[in-house]
Amino acid sequence: MDADRGLRPEAPVPVRDDLRLHAGYHSPQVEVAVRLNTNESPFPPPDGWFLELQEALASIQFNRYPDTRASQLRSALADHHGLLPEQVFCANGSNEVIQCLLLAFGGAGRSMVVFEPTYALHSHIARVTGTGVITGARDDDLFVDLASAERIFAERSPEIVFLCSPNNPTGRSERRETVEWVLENSRGLVVVDEAYGQFAPWSALSLVEPQSCEASEPDASSSSRLIVVRTFSKTWAMAAARLGYLIGHPGVVAACSDVALPYHLDAVKQLAGRLALSWRAEMEERVSMVESERDRLMSAMEALEVKVWPSDANFILFKPLTCGAHELWKKLLERSVLIRDLSAWPSLPGCLRVTVGTPDENSAFLAALEGIIR
Ligand code: PMP
Repeated sequence: MDADRGLRPEAPVPVRDDLRLHAGYHSPQVEVAVRLNTNESPFPPPDGWFLELQEALASIQFNRYPDTRASQLRSALADHHGLLPEQVFCANGSNEVIQCLLLAFGGAGRSMVVFEPTYALHSHIARVTGTGVITGARDDDLFVDLASAERIFAERSPEIVFLCSPNNPTGRSERRETVEWVLENSRGLVVVDEAYGQFAPWSALSLVEPQSCEASEPDASSSSRLIVVRTFSKTWAMAAARLGYLIGHPGVVAACSDVALPYHLDAVKQLAGRLALSWRAEMEERVSMVESERDRLMSAMEALEVKVWPSDANFILFKPLTCGAHELWKKLLERSVLIRDLSAWPSLPGCLRVTVGTPDENSAFLAALEGIIR
């Protein structure tokens, strides 16, 4: 779609019938002064990482295809998490990780479950891969509704269960007991998308055990069915590089590698990701800065006529109480502040989501919000 001109050309032959019903998923990329709509890191990566990367680029043989197994990057990630390289699969952003999972374990005649409202790409990619989508519910506090999950597991037995912790766009992490309960009560793969995991009070990675390729017996234990998905797009401040990964059973990693295209991960990205991991302290510093800005934003928003939900992430779900959400979104855009309009989501009527930005961006958002609401 040529979004800039609002045009969508018709294909010369019909597209797949099952795709025609679904619009694509793209957040608008509008030129504004304050961009708080896509949950990236507001801070660039450390200068030292740039310098290291620039120097290391000389070691790349640009005339050759990259390491198709991404061995060094996967080993570095395995060390980072105290696990084994065969438990790590990398792709171009966590979206592509999810696509590979659904290509390998979803598809015709299979289904996955999501608990709405949640990250729209989980069900979008499922549909693109021909996987059936089952929709579970959340409770009043926006955690996964276990009664709904229990019913779905008993009646439909989905091949894949998607959890998102912290959940985008609602902001809360699922409780550890919930993830354990889902693992015990379901039979398929349990994917925990932790794109915002560094902001959360706990990680499902603590439930993953080291598993090597050598185990020859088929293994359907609950910890083997757990997959944790992470990204470099948020706290690692590398959204432009497009790098994500999963941690899971070596058999899941092998299946994802089978469906990924040959050499899908370019050499620059493999290097950039590997080097980033040695800047962990700087990454954690940025997480703390974002958290303290998030808390400042939340208190200021609570003082306005706005309902604010608790957040374990770098964004805040909120609902204006005295004006329409879409109207507020438009007025913010007129003031060159772009946030995410969720008001058309059936499960989040009247809601908006703002990403935590730099202190200046947050102050500009608050000033604009106050100007409109008061
Ligand atoms: N999962 C969640 C929950 C997200 O919010 C996002 C980004 N919006 C992604 C995955 C995708 O991240 P990326 O493809 O940039 O790694």
